[in-house]
Amino acid sequence: LFVDAPLQGGARIALERSQANYLLNVLRLKAGEAVLIFNGRDGEWRAEVSVEGRKAADLVCMEQTRQQGAAPDIVYAFAPLKHARLDYMVQKAVEMGAGVLQPVLTRRTQSTRVNLERMRSNAIEAAEQCGILSIPEVREEENLERFIKGLDKDRLVVFCDEDAPVSNPVQALAKLGNKQPRLVVIVGPEGGFTDQERALVAAHERCVCVSLGPRILRADTAAVAALAIVQSVLGD
Ligand code: SAM
Repeated sequence: LFVDAPLQGGARIALERSQANYLLNVLRLKAGEAVLIFNGRDGEWRAEVSVEGRKAADLVCMEQTRQQGAAPDIVYAFAPLKHARLDYMVQKAVEMGAGVLQPVLTRRTQSTRVNLERMRSNAIEAAEQCGILSIPEVREEENLERFIKGLDKDRLVVFCDEDAPVSNPVQALAKLGNKQPRLVVIVGPEGGFTDQERALVAAHERCVCVSLGPRILRADTAAVAALAIVQSVLGD
Protein backbone atom coordinates (compact mmCIF):
# COMPACT_ATOMS: atom_id res chain seq x y z
CA LEU A 1 0.00 0.00 0.00
CA PHE A 2 1.38 3.43 -0.94
CA VAL A 3 1.31 6.05 1.83
CA ASP A 4 2.38 9.64 1.43
CA ALA A 5 4.24 9.96 4.74
CA PRO A 6 7.75 9.40 6.12
CA LEU A 7 8.30 5.81 7.29
CA GLN A 8 10.29 4.85 10.37
CA GLY A 9 9.83 2.53 13.34
CA GLY A 10 6.90 3.61 15.51
CA ALA A 11 5.60 6.22 13.04
CA ARG A 12 1.81 6.55 13.10
CA ILE A 13 0.20 7.22 9.74
CA ALA A 14 -3.34 8.51 9.45
CA LEU A 15 -4.92 6.92 6.39
CA GLU A 16 -7.04 8.76 3.88
CA ARG A 17 -10.68 7.75 3.94
CA SER A 18 -10.47 5.71 0.72
CA GLN A 19 -7.45 3.78 1.98
CA ALA A 20 -9.09 3.10 5.34
CA ASN A 21 -12.17 1.87 3.53
CA TYR A 22 -10.04 -0.40 1.34
CA LEU A 23 -8.26 -1.96 4.31
CA LEU A 24 -11.25 -2.27 6.61
CA ASN A 25 -14.07 -3.07 4.22
CA VAL A 26 -12.44 -4.63 1.15
CA LEU A 27 -9.48 -6.51 2.66
CA ARG A 28 -11.42 -6.78 5.96
CA LEU A 29 -8.35 -6.25 8.10
CA LYS A 30 -8.86 -5.99 11.85
CA ALA A 31 -6.93 -4.05 14.48
CA GLY A 32 -3.43 -5.48 14.94
CA GLU A 33 -3.32 -7.13 11.51
CA ALA A 34 -0.43 -6.26 9.23
CA VAL A 35 -0.07 -4.66 5.83
CA LEU A 36 3.06 -3.83 3.81
CA ILE A 37 3.50 -0.14 3.00
CA PHE A 38 5.93 2.03 1.03
CA ASN A 39 6.28 5.70 0.17
CA GLY A 40 8.74 5.59 -2.75
CA ARG A 41 11.68 6.70 -0.54
CA ASP A 42 12.04 4.70 2.67
CA GLY A 43 11.76 1.10 1.51
CA GLU A 44 8.97 -1.26 2.49
CA TRP A 45 7.62 -1.55 6.04
CA ARG A 46 5.32 -3.90 7.89
CA ALA A 47 2.65 -1.81 9.55
CA GLU A 48 -0.14 -2.75 11.90
CA VAL A 49 -3.69 -1.52 11.60
CA SER A 50 -5.03 0.59 14.41
CA VAL A 51 -8.77 1.03 13.98
CA GLU A 52 -10.92 3.94 15.08
CA GLY A 53 -14.57 3.12 14.37
CA ARG A 54 -15.57 1.61 11.04
CA LYS A 55 -14.38 4.34 8.74
CA ALA A 56 -11.06 5.59 10.10
CA ALA A 57 -7.79 3.79 10.63
CA ASP A 58 -4.16 4.53 11.35
CA LEU A 59 -1.17 2.39 10.57
CA VAL A 60 1.73 1.97 12.94
CA CYS A 61 5.09 1.29 11.31
CA MET A 62 6.69 -1.80 12.88
CA GLU A 63 9.80 -2.91 10.99
CA GLN A 64 11.40 -2.50 7.60
CA THR A 65 10.94 -5.51 5.33
CA ARG A 66 12.82 -4.27 2.21
CA GLN A 67 15.36 -1.54 1.60
CA GLN A 68 14.76 1.14 -1.00
CA GLY A 69 16.72 0.24 -4.17
CA ALA A 70 17.70 2.48 -7.05
CA ALA A 71 14.85 3.36 -9.40
CA PRO A 72 15.17 1.87 -12.91
CA ASP A 73 16.67 4.36 -15.33
CA ILE A 74 14.29 3.58 -18.17
CA VAL A 75 12.49 6.61 -19.54
CA TYR A 76 9.31 5.76 -21.39
CA ALA A 77 8.57 8.63 -23.79
CA PHE A 78 5.24 8.57 -25.55
CA ALA A 79 2.76 10.69 -27.39
CA PRO A 80 -0.20 10.99 -24.98
CA LEU A 81 -3.37 9.11 -25.81
CA LYS A 82 -6.88 9.80 -24.64
CA HIS A 83 -8.50 8.69 -21.37
CA ALA A 84 -8.67 4.93 -20.88
CA ARG A 85 -5.93 4.20 -23.39
CA LEU A 86 -3.55 6.54 -21.57
CA ASP A 87 -4.49 4.95 -18.23
CA TYR A 88 -3.70 1.54 -19.67
CA MET A 89 -0.44 2.68 -21.21
CA VAL A 90 0.77 4.24 -17.97
CA GLN A 91 -0.13 1.19 -15.89
CA LYS A 92 1.57 -1.22 -18.29
CA ALA A 93 4.68 0.93 -18.71
CA VAL A 94 5.13 0.94 -14.92
CA GLU A 95 4.56 -2.81 -14.69
CA MET A 96 7.16 -3.29 -17.41
CA GLY A 97 9.76 -1.32 -15.47
CA ALA A 98 9.67 2.28 -16.70
CA GLY A 99 11.19 4.60 -14.10
CA VAL A 100 10.18 7.86 -15.76
CA LEU A 101 7.04 8.63 -17.77
CA GLN A 102 7.61 11.41 -20.27
CA PRO A 103 4.74 12.60 -22.46
CA VAL A 104 6.12 14.04 -25.70
CA LEU A 105 4.15 16.22 -28.06
CA THR A 106 4.57 15.36 -31.72
CA ARG A 107 3.08 16.79 -34.87
CA ARG A 108 0.26 14.21 -34.94
CA THR A 109 -0.36 14.00 -31.20
CA GLN A 110 -4.11 14.26 -30.74
CA SER A 111 -4.24 14.66 -27.01
CA THR A 112 -2.04 17.60 -26.11
CA ARG A 113 -3.44 18.30 -22.63
CA VAL A 114 -2.26 15.64 -20.24
CA ASN A 115 -3.76 15.05 -16.82
CA LEU A 116 -0.54 14.57 -14.86
CA GLU A 117 -2.37 13.91 -11.59
CA ARG A 118 -4.29 11.07 -13.16
CA MET A 119 -1.06 9.70 -14.61
CA ARG A 120 0.54 9.85 -11.16
CA SER A 121 -2.31 8.02 -9.49
CA ASN A 122 -2.24 5.32 -12.19
CA ALA A 123 1.52 5.00 -11.73
CA ILE A 124 1.09 4.58 -7.96
CA GLU A 125 -1.63 1.97 -8.43
CA ALA A 126 0.58 0.02 -10.83
CA ALA A 127 3.55 0.24 -8.45
CA GLU A 128 1.35 -1.08 -5.62
CA GLN A 129 0.11 -3.96 -7.69
CA CYS A 130 3.51 -5.10 -8.95
CA GLY A 131 5.39 -4.69 -5.68
CA ILE A 132 8.03 -2.18 -6.73
CA LEU A 133 9.10 0.36 -4.14
CA SER A 134 9.88 3.36 -6.32
CA ILE A 135 7.10 5.45 -7.77
CA PRO A 136 7.89 6.31 -11.38
CA GLU A 137 8.50 9.99 -11.98
CA VAL A 138 5.78 11.60 -14.08
CA ARG A 139 7.22 14.48 -16.09
CA GLU A 140 5.41 17.35 -17.70
CA GLU A 141 4.74 17.07 -21.39
CA GLU A 142 7.51 18.32 -23.63
CA ASN A 143 7.89 18.97 -27.30
CA LEU A 144 9.66 16.03 -29.05
CA GLU A 145 12.44 18.18 -30.46
CA ARG A 146 13.27 19.74 -27.10
CA PHE A 147 13.14 16.36 -25.41
CA ILE A 148 15.56 14.73 -27.88
CA LYS A 149 17.94 17.65 -27.84
CA GLY A 150 17.98 17.66 -24.03
CA LEU A 151 19.00 13.99 -23.73
CA ASP A 152 22.52 13.02 -22.69
CA LYS A 153 24.52 11.89 -25.70
CA ASP A 154 25.34 8.52 -24.17
CA ARG A 155 21.77 7.57 -23.32
CA LEU A 156 20.50 4.83 -25.58
CA VAL A 157 17.33 5.72 -27.49
CA VAL A 158 15.13 2.82 -28.59
CA PHE A 159 12.93 4.41 -31.21
CA CYS A 160 9.88 2.32 -32.11
CA ASP A 161 8.73 3.01 -35.62
CA GLU A 162 6.42 0.93 -37.78
CA ASP A 163 8.25 2.28 -40.83
CA ALA A 164 11.59 0.83 -39.69
CA PRO A 165 12.72 -2.06 -41.89
CA VAL A 166 11.20 -5.20 -40.40
CA SER A 167 13.91 -7.11 -38.59
CA ASN A 168 14.18 -9.00 -35.36
CA PRO A 169 14.14 -6.36 -32.55
CA VAL A 170 15.67 -8.79 -30.05
CA GLN A 171 18.68 -9.28 -32.31
CA ALA A 172 18.95 -5.57 -33.05
CA LEU A 173 19.12 -4.75 -29.33
CA ALA A 174 21.29 -7.73 -28.38
CA LYS A 175 24.05 -6.34 -30.61
CA LEU A 176 24.44 -3.48 -28.13
CA GLY A 177 25.68 -5.74 -25.33
CA ASN A 178 23.90 -7.19 -22.34
CA LYS A 179 23.00 -4.32 -20.06
CA GLN A 180 22.16 -0.78 -20.93
CA PRO A 181 21.53 0.96 -17.65
CA ARG A 182 20.28 4.25 -19.08
CA LEU A 183 17.80 4.21 -21.87
CA VAL A 184 14.76 5.83 -23.43
CA VAL A 185 12.01 3.97 -25.24
CA ILE A 186 9.94 6.14 -27.59
CA VAL A 187 6.49 5.28 -28.92
CA GLY A 188 4.57 7.63 -31.18
CA PRO A 189 1.00 8.90 -31.60
CA GLU A 190 -2.03 7.32 -33.25
CA GLY A 191 -1.00 8.79 -36.59
CA GLY A 192 2.69 7.82 -36.31
CA PHE A 193 5.75 10.05 -36.67
CA THR A 194 6.41 12.42 -39.56
CA ASP A 195 9.56 11.96 -41.67
CA GLN A 196 10.96 15.11 -40.11
CA GLU A 197 10.48 13.65 -36.63
CA ARG A 198 12.08 10.37 -37.69
CA ALA A 199 15.15 12.28 -38.88
CA LEU A 200 15.25 14.29 -35.67
CA VAL A 201 15.21 11.22 -33.41
CA ALA A 202 17.57 9.23 -35.65
CA ALA A 203 20.10 12.06 -35.38
CA HIS A 204 20.60 11.30 -31.67
CA GLU A 205 24.05 9.78 -31.19
CA ARG A 206 22.84 6.49 -29.73
CA CYS A 207 19.53 5.88 -31.48
CA VAL A 208 18.41 2.38 -32.46
CA CYS A 209 15.35 2.35 -34.65
CA VAL A 210 13.36 -0.83 -34.06
CA SER A 211 10.48 -2.54 -35.74
CA LEU A 212 8.06 -4.44 -33.53
CA GLY A 213 7.02 -6.62 -36.45
CA PRO A 214 5.14 -6.28 -39.73
CA ARG A 215 1.80 -5.31 -38.14
CA ILE A 216 1.00 -1.75 -37.06
CA LEU A 217 0.29 -2.00 -33.35
CA ARG A 218 -1.91 0.34 -31.39
CA ALA A 219 0.27 2.74 -29.46
CA ASP A 220 -0.73 1.20 -26.12
CA THR A 221 0.09 -2.29 -27.41
CA ALA A 222 3.41 -1.01 -28.78
CA ALA A 223 4.26 0.25 -25.27
CA VAL A 224 3.95 -3.23 -23.80
CA ALA A 225 5.72 -4.96 -26.70
CA ALA A 226 8.61 -2.50 -26.77
CA LEU A 227 9.22 -2.52 -23.01
CA ALA A 228 8.96 -6.32 -22.85
CA ILE A 229 11.61 -6.68 -25.55
CA VAL A 230 13.85 -4.03 -24.02
CA GLN A 231 13.61 -5.64 -20.57
CA SER A 232 14.26 -9.13 -21.87
CA VAL A 233 17.39 -8.07 -23.76
CA LEU A 234 18.82 -5.08 -21.92
CA GLY A 235 17.10 -4.99 -18.53
CA ASP A 236 18.10 -6.59 -15.24
N1 SAM B 1 -3.61 3.95 -35.14
C1 SAM B 1 -3.13 3.09 -34.09
C2 SAM B 1 -3.41 3.73 -32.72
O1 SAM B 1 -4.35 4.51 -32.64
O2 SAM B 1 -2.78 3.45 -31.72
C3 SAM B 1 -1.70 2.73 -34.36
C4 SAM B 1 -0.72 3.80 -34.08
S1 SAM B 1 0.98 3.44 -34.29
C5 SAM B 1 1.30 4.47 -35.66
C6 SAM B 1 1.61 4.27 -32.88
C7 SAM B 1 3.05 4.06 -32.52
O3 SAM B 1 3.25 2.72 -32.09
C8 SAM B 1 4.06 4.29 -33.61
O4 SAM B 1 4.40 5.65 -33.76
C9 SAM B 1 5.24 3.45 -33.14
O5 SAM B 1 6.01 4.16 -32.18
C10 SAM B 1 4.55 2.29 -32.46
N2 SAM B 1 4.39 1.12 -33.35
C11 SAM B 1 3.24 0.55 -33.76
N3 SAM B 1 3.48 -0.53 -34.53
C12 SAM B 1 4.81 -0.65 -34.61
C13 SAM B 1 5.69 -1.57 -35.25
N4 SAM B 1 5.23 -2.58 -35.98
N5 SAM B 1 7.02 -1.41 -35.11
C14 SAM B 1 7.51 -0.38 -34.37
N6 SAM B 1 6.74 0.53 -33.74
C15 SAM B 1 5.41 0.39 -33.84
